[in-house]
Amino acid sequence: MTAIILTISTLSSFICMELASWFIHKYVMHGPLWNIHKTHHQPNEHGIELNDAFAIFFAAIAAALLYTGMGKGNMVMTGAGAGITLYGLIYFILHDIFIHKRIRLFKRTNNPLLNALAEAHRDHHKSRSRSHSTSYGLLLINIKYYKKHYRKRKNT
Ligand SMILES: [Zn+2]
Ligand SMILES: [Zn+2]
Repeated sequence: MTAIILTISTLSSFICMELASWFIHKYVMHGPLWNIHKTHHQPNEHGIELNDAFAIFFAAIAAALLYTGMGKGNMVMTGAGAGITLYGLIYFILHDIFIHKRIRLFKRTNNPLLNALAEAHRDHHKSRSRSHSTSYGLLLINIKYYKKHYRKRKNT
């Protein structure tokens, strides 16, 4: 029973994180906190951006949930912390390493799913302004990107 609660809680927390990050990205980061987030929309040479504060903020919430959840034996809380951690890890690998190449680790890929995610995010970055951007989510993107990259692979 404990394992089931932990799994459900982790998965729902992961899904909630994609929905929450879409919402926060669109209405908070491109809204009142644009001054912080804009550092991610401008070219920069130092590798570290003020925008990284958001990742630290979510990591702190995840750590607090994991610490309290495990301390109290609360599987819902532990799962919530695990889901946020898992999302943060996947976000870091996809967004920071694969798409923005902050660490040069991956070569080009023919994987249509990964290329669709990357193109959608590149479209988000086409706009340097606070408004008029697209694709605020990382995993939930317009279906046209998937269709385009799956078609492309079929034709090669
Ligand atoms: Zn943005
Ligand atoms: Zn980005």
